[in-house]
Amino acid sequence: MKFIGTRGGTPVSGAEAIVRGMADGGGLFVPEVIPSVSAEELNAMLEMSYPERAAFIIAKFFDEFPPDELLHALEAAYSQFESDDPAPLVKIEEGLFILELFHGPTCAFKDMALTVLPYLLRKSCDLLGIKEDVLILAATSGDTGKAALEGFRDAKGIKVAVFYPEEGVSKMQKMQMVTQDGENVDVVGVKGNFDDCQSAVKKIFRSKECTDKLKERGVLLSSANSINIGRLVPQIAYYFSAYCDLVTSGQIQMGDRVDFAVPTGNFGNILAGYYAKCMGLPVGTLVCASNRNNVLTDFFNKGTYDKKRAFFRTMSPSMDILVSSNLERLLFEISGRDSALTVERMKSLASPGRYSIRAEELKALASTFFAGYAGEEDTVECVYEFFEEFNYPLDTHTGVAMHVARNYCRKRAEDVGAEQRPMVVVSTASPYKFPQAVYYALTGNDVKDSFKGIKRIHLITAMKVPESLKALRYKPPRFKTVVTPDKIFEEVLNFVGE
Ligand SMILES: *Cc1c(COP(=O)(O)O)cnc(C)c1O
Repeated sequence: MKFIGTRGGTPVSGAEAIVRGMADGGGLFVPEVIPSVSAEELNAMLEMSYPERAAFIIAKFFDEFPPDELLHALEAAYSQFESDDPAPLVKIEEGLFILELFHGPTCAFKDMALTVLPYLLRKSCDLLGIKEDVLILAATSGDTGKAALEGFRDAKGIKVAVFYPEEGVSKMQKMQMVTQDGENVDVVGVKGNFDDCQSAVKKIFRSKECTDKLKERGVLLSSANSINIGRLVPQIAYYFSAYCDLVTSGQIQMGDRVDFAVPTGNFGNILAGYYAKCMGLPVGTLVCASNRNNVLTDFFNKGTYDKKRAFFRTMSPSMDILVSSNLERLLFEISGRDSALTVERMKSLASPGRYSIRAEELKALASTFFAGYAGEEDTVECVYEFFEEFNYPLDTHTGVAMHVARNYCRKRAEDVGAEQRPMVVVSTASPYKFPQAVYYALTGNDVKDSFKGIKRIHLITAMKVPESLKALRYKPPRFKTVVTPDKIFEEVLNFVGE
């Protein structure tokens, strides 16, 4: 399978797409053809373990990896999870399920792909005969950074530099990053928000001057953000796996359609669900849930993406994003894979800061996507009420998705004749990863110290505390540097050395 860029350019192999991270002209790699999974194949997946299901899906895109080796890498990746099944599906009530994706080493769904990406990248380098060191640059709204650091820690021939918005991540997220072990890692705070980090990092990828300077030092750039297709493809697997689990547990019949609600920031997770649907998985609606930074809600409802708006810091910081990178891949698909039009729209997004899609494109989107948002108060209410009703503690990101999902379900229930489908809410983080916000939502009280927050949530919910978060308590911080966005490349050069 070849990969093409959303803004044009020559097709490349999967290995090259993974190593390069970004396509020509600032575009993103997408598969030349979206592969399909037949009804027979989906049936065969029912019997498989999670790593086997994931290996099957990944091999559809990346056919150059030896199948046994890929499966072995996936088994090793998911053996680091605290649960036997890396993506368990929990039934809440009739027709409502939660897909728990937070049992990995860093307690957020980013682990689903970032425990696998090191293998994909290492192997890709070997397949391409690359001898240079690879430098991974990652901008993070909090969770990608830690998952990338942990995934690539002490990986041979790979260095990782992570940039996070100094004031834009939770205390726990920051603690996880600045205490990171490993000889090949760098963690840097940035004065600004996630969008500032992301655009500064993307600029380095696009700049020939920067990439040349790194080349002189024997270093090749790659990305661990969801702009990297190697991040997205492993995420498609859990949509298939959740579906299979619904069938094998007798909740649905094979072929029945299922909805998914996804708490969305950079549009990576939900895009994986869209690809799953395109591949033939019986998906009904994808519910795109935003927090108060509801740029995507407006886009899906009005057809105009407008990033010129106030930016809010919320209790779901991993979704505090105004420029959702992966939306470019969706735009490319709905435009009939028109790279010239995609270039035009992305230019327009850069300046004046907005673009609009055609009425028929908006209509096509509405047949798959429902978009809504939860304000801060909605999120608090949802987490509180959900615990009261079901004794299940949601994290604040998942709370956003649950609020929007329940609105959607309520609306549809009123619609006579509408198909009533099961809803799977994708849970992206452990409540213990955002202890202050979750404790506040559950009790209305503040707690300043993260570990006290963890203890109190545990007393209320009796949910098991992840070992990796407990262990943070006595770890000293290693990384203290904070820079302005224009100094990011300087910091990269410092890290790489002469
Ligand atoms: C990254 C993240 C999101 C947003 O996911 P996208 O793929 O960027 O849309 C939501 N919740 C949590 C907890 C995250 O870490």
